[in-house]
Amino acid sequence: MLENLAEIAAKALTLIEQAQDLKALEQIRVKFLGKKGEVTQILKKLGQLDVKKRPQAGAQVNQIKQELSQAIEARKLDLNAKEIKKQIEQESIDVSLPGRRGSTGRIHPITRTLERVTQFFNSMGFGVEEGPEIEDDYHNFTALNIAEHHPARAMHDTFYFDTHRLLRTHTSPVQIRTMTQASPPFRFICPGKVYRCDSDLTHTPMFHQVEGLWVDKKVSFSNLKGLLVSFLNFFFEQNLNVRFRPSYFPFTEPSAEVDVTCVHCQGQGCRVCSGSGWLEVLGCGMVHPTVFKYCNINAQHYRGLAFGLGIERFAMLRYGVNDLRLFFENDLDFLGQF
Ligand SMILES: [Zn+2]
Repeated sequence: MLENLAEIAAKALTLIEQAQDLKALEQIRVKFLGKKGEVTQILKKLGQLDVKKRPQAGAQVNQIKQELSQAIEARKLDLNAKEIKKQIEQESIDVSLPGRRGSTGRIHPITRTLERVTQFFNSMGFGVEEGPEIEDDYHNFTALNIAEHHPARAMHDTFYFDTHRLLRTHTSPVQIRTMTQASPPFRFICPGKVYRCDSDLTHTPMFHQVEGLWVDKKVSFSNLKGLLVSFLNFFFEQNLNVRFRPSYFPFTEPSAEVDVTCVHCQGQGCRVCSGSGWLEVLGCGMVHPTVFKYCNINAQHYRGLAFGLGIERFAMLRYGVNDLRLFFENDLDFLGQF
């Protein structure tokens, strides 16, 4: 009976050493030291031995039992430590990893440009007036000295709803509406969306304009010149050369187009300015007496200066964007750069 004891002990110790987790270790404990365990069985059979041999055999079995218990306890501590280490590794947080940032919204470049233009004219005492985008023929054309068969109507590529209603092709109708309702002196700008049936690299069917008007008894072309030169220097944050070229608009007389030194090549000539060194940026002039007549303003007593610009053109020049359509594709990678 006791012959097997050493063998059983050796087997048990090997198994204990090889146990990979606490569950396996517990199974080993039950197998050898449990109620029906191999060592326990030997202990139970001691009663069958000769009385003289019993104490020595009992001591021997008990010693083995103790040895195994100790080995199991030691292995248990080992496995516990391993388990804890593993858990710590799994749950550890790398505090040096960069966190995830919440994304913040940005103001659209067109809106930023519009705000910048408005900011300048506000500082010069100009208010802001707005009007409907669906206009009638009278406010969009007739009252601006563009009679029914005037060739300028064809140039506007108008979206018509019917013979009288249309999407405004410029923000000038707001000037007509405001002049008709208020009495001079006044100065204000009209920012807003306008529509023309046109689409390519530099045209979209919808775009933004700001038009300005200043009516008073003593305003002159030199006021217009001073105002626009200050505006262009403010907007581009550079001292640019500005030139006024005689031009034609039905609603102003005299009329001029305004060029600035190319902001990309400083006048050297490049792709943006088609090699000329100049960029056309504004249209302007003194309000035509016929327009005053439509608005019941006495052209003998009052003069008006007017100007208009395209916001997209200014945004493209300021931010160096060469395809206008990018502004309206809602690509967040593009918009996020501003
Ligand atoms: Zn250039």
